[in-house]
Amino acid sequence: MNRLVSRVLLLLLAMPGSLFALEHVTVRRDGREQKVSGQVVVTAEDGGLLLMTNDGTLWAIEPDKLVSREQDDQEFHPLARNELSKQLLSELPEGFEVYSTRHYLICYNTSREYAAWCGSLFERLYKGFINAWSRKGLKLHEPEFPLVAVIFSSPEAYSKYAQSELGEAAPSIVGYYSLRSNRVTMYDLTGIESLRSAGDRRGSPGQINAVLSRPEAEQVVATIIHEATHQIAFNSGLQTRFADIPLWVSEGLAVFFETPDLQSAKGWRTIGAVNTSRLDRFREYLSRRPAGSLKSLLSDDKRIRDTRTALDAYAEAWALNYFLIHYRPKQYVAYLQMLSGKKQFLWDEPKTRLREFQAAFGDLSQLDSDFLKQMQKVH
Ligand SMILES: [Zn+2]
Repeated sequence: MNRLVSRVLLLLLAMPGSLFALEHVTVRRDGREQKVSGQVVVTAEDGGLLLMTNDGTLWAIEPDKLVSREQDDQEFHPLARNELSKQLLSELPEGFEVYSTRHYLICYNTSREYAAWCGSLFERLYKGFINAWSRKGLKLHEPEFPLVAVIFSSPEAYSKYAQSELGEAAPSIVGYYSLRSNRVTMYDLTGIESLRSAGDRRGSPGQINAVLSRPEAEQVVATIIHEATHQIAFNSGLQTRFADIPLWVSEGLAVFFETPDLQSAKGWRTIGAVNTSRLDRFREYLSRRPAGSLKSLLSDDKRIRDTRTALDAYAEAWALNYFLIHYRPKQYVAYLQMLSGKKQFLWDEPKTRLREFQAAFGDLSQLDSDFLKQMQKVH
């Protein structure tokens, strides 16, 4: 997941906007004026706005970009599926089509079979995700908007499109979930040259499965599932976009769910299976893990954001999520429920994060020692 909205908008106190009015806003963008209408989610003290349009996009509008705003008393409604499909096609380059599943609108300019393969994978993930939490007593809701995935036929076309959001990093990122647009964007993985053998065809679901079940494909498939997990978490009420969810939670959970289960056509039997590459990395990290490791992971997002420490921090976040989900499920559900109430653009101090964690799980050093002991037995 990439977090793209600058924190400039965020002023000390943010107030929720009126729920039942449609706001028509003129903004200045790249030197020209543009009109957007939607629901004001947050009004910042300096007049900045977080506006949600009826396609699920969140616009963070800084006060100096705001030309005018007026309100009427129309109710805000998300676009219907067919209207949203039409809008998506008008925004994307020529040649895209929409494949629709129960929860998803998959926009693609690759084969329809690949779109269907992804649709099926995502629906299984969705079901597995919702069921996993509901079994633990966490009630989630249906998404307010259809979940949109955009699949490009080639890495080149994808990179070109993704550059506006990812910048120069686009070619090295297989897919991403955008908090702003609420969409997952990616490309057809069966097109990756190194995954294909001579004579491979890209046609049927069986052939797609065959290519993407190879061990060499594991990481790229995991990335797509990881991004799709973020999207589900932010659309089912577990997390709120632009609220201060600690990254060890949002990233650790996405890693927890990312272990693929391509063999199962109907379900996702191994959801939350041990993520062996993360476990290996965590084991390796243990030999040089400082005493304050847990505290630093919980206090702020620095270790996860910093590319020099990110691999270790992701591995530790996965391990911690694995431990809490399996061995402290009640406390973890209560903790996640608390986090699901976090409001947009209110950032917690490290001491608040620590206090909230300890309120849920008790003394940190005791938990750390239970955590390490238990994770030694996992393999
Ligand atoms: Zn992520």
